[in-house]
Amino acid sequence: MTSALLLCFNLIIILGAIYFGLSGTLIIGALSLLTVFWHSLKVTQFHFQALFLIATTVSMLYIYFSRLINRGKVINLELENLDEERNVLAVELEHLRIENSSFKEKLKRYATLKDLTETLSSTLDLERASSLVTTEALRIVGKADGCLLYLVDNEKQELKLVNTRAASGQQKGGNKKGDIFDQWAFKQHMPLLIRDVYKDFRFDAGSYLGPLHGARSLISAPLIRENKLLGILRLDSVSSDNFDANDLRLLSIISDLSAASIQNSLLYQNTEKLAITDGLTGMFVHRYFQKRFDEEIGRSLWTKSPFALLMLDIDNFKSYNDKYGHIAGDILLKQIARLISLSVNPGDIVARYGGEEFAVLIVDTPGPQAQKLAEWIREKIEKKPFLLRRETTNVSISGGLTFYPQHGKDKTTLIRTADQALYKAKSEGKNKICIP
Ligand code: GH3
Ligand code: MG
Ligand code: MG
Repeated sequence: MTSALLLCFNLIIILGAIYFGLSGTLIIGALSLLTVFWHSLKVTQFHFQALFLIATTVSMLYIYFSRLINRGKVINLELENLDEERNVLAVELEHLRIENSSFKEKLKRYATLKDLTETLSSTLDLERASSLVTTEALRIVGKADGCLLYLVDNEKQELKLVNTRAASGQQKGGNKKGDIFDQWAFKQHMPLLIRDVYKDFRFDAGSYLGPLHGARSLISAPLIRENKLLGILRLDSVSSDNFDANDLRLLSIISDLSAASIQNSLLYQNTEKLAITDGLTGMFVHRYFQKRFDEEIGRSLWTKSPFALLMLDIDNFKSYNDKYGHIAGDILLKQIARLISLSVNPGDIVARYGGEEFAVLIVDTPGPQAQKLAEWIREKIEKKPFLLRRETTNVSISGGLTFYPQHGKDKTTLIRTADQALYKAKSEGKNKICIP
């Protein structure tokens, strides 16, 4: 019985050894050696077997627990790896989130810029185009307190403020010809980012005497078309460090898009001007004068304000042509036209009515004042010496003056009566202004 039990135990031990691998087999082997040793000491088989069993069980327990601990360590290591992988994925996810939001932002800006292009292409009116540019620049960049648009005056070679807009939608203050920053952009034809107007080493804003209109930081971008500077688009802020390079990049895109529209509007304005102005004198042409005349009668009917029509004709002009030649005659005509244009009030309408005849609508002016102005023009021409082919000569002019509504309530009557008065001035010896 004991032998069968012991055999059973030994079998369990051997199976355990197989299960627990090399270290278990080594321990079993060591215990077998111990068996031989005990046997030689004549210890009874049962005692020996009991001892063997205890030792083996202790060994197996030791091996089992050390494996359990090892497995725990492996699991911990795996957990750490998983944690690390989770962190990497979290970082990637954050990157993707940032990329996604910047992509969305780009898409939004693209849509806004597309809208801007469409809106700008819908107008050829310079005033409306300028107003759209400032309003849209403020809206798209979104951080500024005000926007200014300057255009280059090609004749004077200086900047001219054409539109301003505050974030509130009102007009904003600005230097008519630009401040030191605009002058810089005008000369350099380059974008400009000023984080703090008083700290930028390129400018001495502290000793600048002109007004800065509260600008503490600003960005400005040139409007360039076919390598030619058309103007400058600028955004202002009352706080320092309000703009960064991204804002400047965006403003540059807006100014590039705006430049095309502004150029088209300028070309259109120029074409319109060419169509209504006389090439030699720069005065309005006859056709346009007729249109303005109709408008002025309509306006006067409404406002009840008087106006006068002055028809002028240079005396003996043919003789100047004959004496000095046609080219010198043209120069004389141009000089007299300039003198007349500079003598009238800013709202008055001056036209070249015929060859060397001029018509002036003296608006919002009662008869006596209009007569004074007409006499003043006549006297100015009479007294001015003209240099023709190195020879100083004098010129005179005659005029017929009629008043609305005294001398006529419609255009045809007024022109006819003015013509009659002019004829009278000529027949009475010229160099005079006559009233019917
Ligand atoms: P009056 O005092 O009666 O007005 O004498 P006038 O010689 O001025 O006579 P009239 O007004 O009839 O003649 C106008 C002349 O002006 C005829 C024409 O040769 C000349 N003329 C018209 N247009 C031009 C122009 O564009 N350039 C030049 N050089 N001469 C012109
Ligand atoms: Mg004449
Ligand atoms: Mg004439």
